[in-house]
Amino acid sequence: MTFSDLGLAAPLLAALSEAGFTQPTQVQSDAIPAVLEGADLLVSSQTGSGKTAAFMLPSLQRLLEPASKAGKGPRILVLAPTRELALQVNEAATQYAAGVRRFTSATLVGGAPYAPQMRKLSRPLDLVVATPGRLIDHLEAGRIDFSRLEVLILDEADRMLDMGFLADIERIVGSTPAERQTLLFSATLDGVVGDLARRLTRSPRRIDV
Ligand code: AMP
Repeated sequence: MTFSDLGLAAPLLAALSEAGFTQPTQVQSDAIPAVLEGADLLVSSQTGSGKTAAFMLPSLQRLLEPASKAGKGPRILVLAPTRELALQVNEAATQYAAGVRRFTSATLVGGAPYAPQMRKLSRPLDLVVATPGRLIDHLEAGRIDFSRLEVLILDEADRMLDMGFLADIERIVGSTPAERQTLLFSATLDGVVGDLARRLTRSPRRIDV
């Protein structure tokens, strides 16, 4: 199995070969074709499985086509539990998006100054990677608009709930379009995180790695 067999387009394949990735991991083989079809996903997978590329690559593929709606808000939003993870996800995305023309992204995390984040939000963005608390601050101040949002990704959803972000997540999701694609990644899909997953997704496919 190759990345090309999974349906990824040439600009993404070029970035992968630049990164030295020759073979998809299990979660990538399972998730990438489903995301490209537009399906919602519930994925139980661990760090180190290659999950970041599994959700990022097919989501970035949407950027090869122009946005269907006007506006400057992000077309892809990733929610992550910690600032470190958010920074890592944005770094990986930037590497995978090397062949996407004029790709723009922002990492919106707590503990970082507001001014640079506000500057980023004043221009069109393809991708936002955020921790829920800081994103809520920007949302409440009217600095971010999700009318163009196509894909919502929750990374390490169980950890976000452990950290008390349930209400923030519900608020954020409530301000995104109902017709979005939703991908939820979590170490476990039981209990509270399973309930949240069912509320946020439509006919999701389940992948257990
Ligand atoms: P993640 O599970 O997303 O945190 O990824 C774990 C590590 O695996 C990261 O350092 C990636 O750069 C690397 N990685 C992801 N997919 C592949 C692949 N198909 N081949 C080789 N390395 C990969």
